[in-house]
Amino acid sequence: MPALRTGTTAPLSADIKESIETKIITEREKRINKKGIHQFREATGELVRFAADPWAKADSTRPEVDEEVDVLIIGCGFGGVLAAKQLHDAGVHSIRMVDKASDFGGVWYWNRYPGLYCDTEAYIYLPLLEETGHVPSAKYVPGYEIQSHIRNIAEMENLRPRTLFQTELNRITWSQGSGRWVGNTDRGDSIRARFVVSAIGILHKVHLPGIPGIENFKGHSFHSSRWDYQYTGGNRDGTPLDRLQGKRVGLVGTGASTIQALPHLAASGAEVFVFQRTPSSVDRRDNAKTDPAWFSSFASKPGWQYDRINNFDAVFNGSNPGLDMVNDGWTHHIFALHGSEATEPFESRLEEVEFRKMEEVRRRVDSIVQDPKTAEGLKAWYKRGCKRPLFNDEYLPAFNKPNVHLVDTDGKGIERVSEQGLVTAEVEHKLDCIIYATGFDWGNDYSQRANMTVTGRDGITLTEKWAAGPSTFHGMLSRDFPNLLLFTHLQSSTSPNYTHLLHERAKHAAYIVTKCMQRGAKTVEPTQEAEDSWVKKLEDIAIKYLDFFRQCTPGYLNQEGQISATNLRSASVGMSTGDWAILTAQWRAEGNLGGLEFDRGQGKATRI
Ligand code: NDP
Repeated sequence: MPALRTGTTAPLSADIKESIETKIITEREKRINKKGIHQFREATGELVRFAADPWAKADSTRPEVDEEVDVLIIGCGFGGVLAAKQLHDAGVHSIRMVDKASDFGGVWYWNRYPGLYCDTEAYIYLPLLEETGHVPSAKYVPGYEIQSHIRNIAEMENLRPRTLFQTELNRITWSQGSGRWVGNTDRGDSIRARFVVSAIGILHKVHLPGIPGIENFKGHSFHSSRWDYQYTGGNRDGTPLDRLQGKRVGLVGTGASTIQALPHLAASGAEVFVFQRTPSSVDRRDNAKTDPAWFSSFASKPGWQYDRINNFDAVFNGSNPGLDMVNDGWTHHIFALHGSEATEPFESRLEEVEFRKMEEVRRRVDSIVQDPKTAEGLKAWYKRGCKRPLFNDEYLPAFNKPNVHLVDTDGKGIERVSEQGLVTAEVEHKLDCIIYATGFDWGNDYSQRANMTVTGRDGITLTEKWAAGPSTFHGMLSRDFPNLLLFTHLQSSTSPNYTHLLHERAKHAAYIVTKCMQRGAKTVEPTQEAEDSWVKKLEDIAIKYLDFFRQCTPGYLNQEGQISATNLRSASVGMSTGDWAILTAQWRAEGNLGGLEFDRGQGKATRI
């Protein structure tokens, strides 16, 4: 293979490019797993302890709730809290919120591993900065600051008294007679609601590798999103993990959680073994504390935050708003393409730049990691966009410490867990502790992910209706499930700035709820034609990405390597969040609620 250490600015020669492409295909093939998204094990049955809540309040006995409200909101992460805020702003206050956690936060409640940060700039990621007056401590902020921000919004909206924590909805059932959803919880509650907002999030259902023996390990083990500080010592504020001194710790997976947690494990005095199936691309972080003078120079102008959020979305999606406000690893290489005198189409220039970017990231490994074999093992051989790009300045240097060892499984993953440790290529690695940083259920059935049966009109379940993939209008409403507002990235839009997406969903949901109430309608749902045409529109967008994702190394973005024309409906591709926001804002501005049907089956159906 020709040398790949080409300068970033020099064009890559054809033979180098070809050899990189060949290497990408070879590496991809090593990782193909016939089981696809079904290769993982759920944290249920014998493994249920991996999903238990380490932060739960000890005693949470309370009387059963039997009540009727206007809106039941499932989930108290950003999605649920923003929905409540938008409903309040629209004058709807009869709200009940439910979450299995014991506080607000969602993904930021569960994940408390050491080193947890958000990779999206805090000035755009933390919603409602203008309303709350919060000044993020840095460009990228830690998880505990994010959870505290969600709590502040919840307190501002006085949501706590209306929230049932440590409570899981097992089922929601549409009652056609009463025109209400009936929500039943694992605490015996019965909540009747005119509307349900399902803001269950996407990264909460723990999954474990699909390998035998997890339950037989005699040492200690936990999932990264249920970090056991009792065992490790330290805490999420960065206090050293002092109880790991002298222990042998296995860290499984090399996604975003591992790259942030490893530096803390490396500093703990433990012997750390990182079990890798696919290396991540890890670029510079360059975090910086917020300079108050600099922050107020732009944050004093009303509307500044939405300008910045929209600017990020525009640049990230290839538009040229004339300025790259966020100017970070998500945007700057894209923005740099504007203004060049190149004649090739933007897409092909972007492809070239991203190709070179990945080469730059691989060269970064060589420049940091001293042991050549370890450095070679840490290089990501896939196209940018196939897996989430990561940013961290401490992960790669951790491999220079004598107590940190890369166990590169060359795409095969771990074979099994023994009583003493982990087995790869028939070698047993003896361990005191195993930390599974193996991510979350992403692509399975919605109801399974929510752990809740959703039964709509005439007893049809969402699982049955969506057997061939989700079917929605605007990615939010689904026929036969009246008054159910689903917050999801499916059949709508996605973004590295996930709160942007949630905020837009919240606005849209609040509008639909209030319009329905204002016209005295009992039910609202899409017409079949509107739903079919939306599904087709989104499939037409998704199909353009099919070839790209087919050639990607397996991961959650391409259904673990099994993306196809038949499962495109479940793919995490759609329009940009900015485009979705414009489209739905225009739809709202038209004011005729096109595509919706009111009071179907209630004796006075109105189709619009
Ligand atoms: P991920 O799903 O990203 O990573 C899971 C890891 O487990 C992968 O490296 C995967 O390997 C590995 N794995 C799975 N099965 C096996 C096996 N049998 N043997 C060995 N390794 C295995 O999980 P994370 O918790 O890291 O991240 C979850 C999500 O949260 C992602 O979307 C991430 O981007 C997001 N996140 C964002 C953060 C941020 O903004 N900073 C912080 C933390 C998380 P393989 O790649 O081969 O599948």
